[in-house]
Amino acid sequence: MPMSTAEVADLDAHDPLRDFRDEFQLREGLIYLDGNSLGAAPTGTAARLADAVSRQWGEGLITSWLGAQWSTAPQRIGDKIATIIGAKPGEVVAADSTSVNIFKALTAALSLRPGRAVILSETTNFPTDVYMMQGIEAFSGGRVRSVAVDPEAVLDRLDQNVAVLLLTQVHYKSGLVRNLAEVTRRAHEKGVLTVWDLSHSAGAIPVDLNGADADFAVGCGYKYLNGGPGAPAFLFAAERHHQARPVLSGWFGHASPFAFEEDYRPAEGITRFLCGTPPVLGLVALEAGVDLLCRADMCAVRKKSLRLGQLFIERMEERCRAFGFRLASPLDPALRGSQVSYAHLHGYEIVQALKAADVIGDFRAPDILRFGLTPLYLRYADIVEAVERIREVCVTRAWDRPEYRERAAVT
Ligand SMILES: *Cc1c(COP(=O)(O)O)cnc(C)c1O
Repeated sequence: MPMSTAEVADLDAHDPLRDFRDEFQLREGLIYLDGNSLGAAPTGTAARLADAVSRQWGEGLITSWLGAQWSTAPQRIGDKIATIIGAKPGEVVAADSTSVNIFKALTAALSLRPGRAVILSETTNFPTDVYMMQGIEAFSGGRVRSVAVDPEAVLDRLDQNVAVLLLTQVHYKSGLVRNLAEVTRRAHEKGVLTVWDLSHSAGAIPVDLNGADADFAVGCGYKYLNGGPGAPAFLFAAERHHQARPVLSGWFGHASPFAFEEDYRPAEGITRFLCGTPPVLGLVALEAGVDLLCRADMCAVRKKSLRLGQLFIERMEERCRAFGFRLASPLDPALRGSQVSYAHLHGYEIVQALKAADVIGDFRAPDILRFGLTPLYLRYADIVEAVERIREVCVTRAWDRPEYRERAAVT
């Protein structure tokens, strides 16, 4: 039985996360289903950035490295992120981009497994993950081999030649969730280290890195952490791996950066995974997003995300069955991250037409429409309304216009 309007209203009225929506800048009428690509702006971010620019930078100038705690922001924000991914204080830093952190984690793992040559991943992983593997292979002059296999073949490919396994926990297209603990256990059985990409997990689903005995992890700051466009990413290294010598041995990872020594000496702990000067303004915005998320109970976030997904799928089945959509996410909620994807022949055009109807999702080639579900700022009623607008776009064929067929540079 589909849910009635009254039942949907009741879900919103009793939603324990209801008040979080007011903490985001979202225009009424707009339904934003792309928080898995760029999270919405917390209302508090602008003031914190303004303070960082005019008071901390404008007045404090260089004294703010200490006075405004700029110099310790990567570790401080890392400790906060640690609380939502099951890590300990001192195991996470906020720094660089996810791509760069993948490089840092992979090379650290390789150095901990001398004699093993393979970095293993899956062919359908997010492209940057595999591109970084290929770059390491090319740079190594053939010593390291980058191997990507079919998603189902990954566990069987683990052997004594594999140094490190790089996987994304929640798949960016389908939203399929991998069993982080089980895969880590299987990798460890073969002496293989793991690097988990949490770009679509951190802030979206509860993650327990230490509970799974994970080795390394990375993830984005601008998706579910709401850190703003191009926000710094994060890197987790389990405490037992802190002796790995960083390849990106920049001065901010040095034991004593302001001693200006001639030779690199890594800092103790997670700090050695820093490289250059931290991007302070980006970190200020990231911290605003992370602070907001830290106030939410991740179990409540997951529960709502699953309900939003269920409602979305039910409504699509009921209202849009005739229009050629095929569910491209797992039907089993336990296997689905915080998104619902559909395949459609005219996916690209439909996503464009939906933007004109104030529903923002995104398109991932070749045919996937992706709808991100962000429990902090989406209401159940938004899901119902989004499906009505999808139906309208299909009934009127509003998507069937030449300008919607032209591919933009960013999708
Ligand atoms: C979004 C995303 C990235 C992005 O990497 P950047 O270096 O921040 O551009 C990496 N991996 C996955 C799985 C992603 O979803």
